[in-house]
Amino acid sequence: MTTLNDFSRCVAQYDPHALPVSAAQAIVRQWATPIAAVERVALRDALDRVLAADIVSPIDVPAHENSAMDGYAFHSAALAHSAQSSTQNSTPGSAQGASIELTVAGKALAGHPFAGRVAANQCVRVMTGACMPPDCDTVVPQERVERDSANPATIRFAADAVAVGANRRRAGEDLARGHVALRAGRIVRASDLGLLASLGIGEVSVRRRLRVAFFSTGDELRSLGEPLDAGSVYDSNRYTLFAMLRRLNVDALDLGVIRDEPAALEAALRSAAANADVVLTSGGVSVGEADFTKQLLQTFGDVAFWSLAMRPGRPLAFGRLWSGEQPGLGKPALFFGLPGNPVAVMVTFYQIVREALLLMAGATPRPLPVLHAASRVAIRKRAGRTEFQRGVAEPDANGHWHVTPTGSQGSGVLSSMSEANCFIVLGHDEADIDAGERVSIMLFDGLI
Ligand code: AMP
Ligand code: MG
Repeated sequence: MTTLNDFSRCVAQYDPHALPVSAAQAIVRQWATPIAAVERVALRDALDRVLAADIVSPIDVPAHENSAMDGYAFHSAALAHSAQSSTQNSTPGSAQGASIELTVAGKALAGHPFAGRVAANQCVRVMTGACMPPDCDTVVPQERVERDSANPATIRFAADAVAVGANRRRAGEDLARGHVALRAGRIVRASDLGLLASLGIGEVSVRRRLRVAFFSTGDELRSLGEPLDAGSVYDSNRYTLFAMLRRLNVDALDLGVIRDEPAALEAALRSAAANADVVLTSGGVSVGEADFTKQLLQTFGDVAFWSLAMRPGRPLAFGRLWSGEQPGLGKPALFFGLPGNPVAVMVTFYQIVREALLLMAGATPRPLPVLHAASRVAIRKRAGRTEFQRGVAEPDANGHWHVTPTGSQGSGVLSSMSEANCFIVLGHDEADIDAGERVSIMLFDGLI
């Protein structure tokens, strides 16, 4: 069996005591194998699910050539005729003033095509979405047209009011029949539901939801509803984890709080592995006396790394574990032992775990956008680790973006996450930042 541990040792810059974030991401990516199971779901239930196969368009969208405007459809030969006659009749080089006169032969509305023929000197009144009438290739918008009240069947417009072929939508211009409309690995979003509906597709194949079990560790943790005795804290990590998992649309299995006792932890880890594809824990992976998770993993799991050159989030264990008595026995699961500190949980989740979960869910994750903003203040930063500070980014009156770190950057200060709207990402090799210097930021919110 190739162990994660062997594999990781071959990764450039491998240092189990302080692995650079990029190296950790590379190791995790290698081991995040997509789940194979697929299910069919009705279109609405496909929202936020991962497409299991390419969607090939069974039809052209739009199915027929149609008008993009309310106006009059005609054949563009009329434009050429008028250009010729105007050059003959007026000063050379001036086609201005040439006007075109056409007779209205009928009308076409969306859903009600015009079936007759249209002669060269004729046009058809068309509404947006109406099929282009036969013999017509151009639509002049109604605002560009004059109608004589004495002679309502005739329209007149300037020859330069419209270009050849203008204002028509070609069949298949949105999606061409036989072409891939959406790729496997796509996480279905609002536009995709509409797009699938426009293809007449009411059911799609998606991967089954990824199952992620999680629990908190720590004798000091109290669940909601319990009194807070001296030295205890409410367990908040299970709620942030629940929420972050929910946003990724995975099946989240909350296994509660486990005390700092090796036997209880071992039982919880095994049962988590038996029931989930991925196991997340928080706390107990540092080097303190009650930090048993890492030790247990080393005996019945396979640990790739357990400490990152990252702040917050230095203690982070990654590996595999099995539901059986020994490594390799029973059902395997990927394991992330997140730090206990609440901000570190969120930072490591977004920077290390998120991509792995998406890959395992069968998705093709794109790199998260990194933007730049000028720091309003100087920031202290030690080279040799990646820092994810919490910041508030905003544009000034000229549209230039600036960012300010939130007050306390302690890894236990969860309010810094609620206050912030971005991470300020200070790269591995970066040192102190001067006020006004450009820094990288990752915004929390996206439009879609
Ligand atoms: P640990 O990594 O277990 O040493 O925990 C580091 C810090 O995070 C300690 O102050 C813990 O009390 C705190 N902590 C650990 N787990 C949780 C949790 N689930 N909710 C809130 N704080 C926690
Ligand atoms: Mg602890």
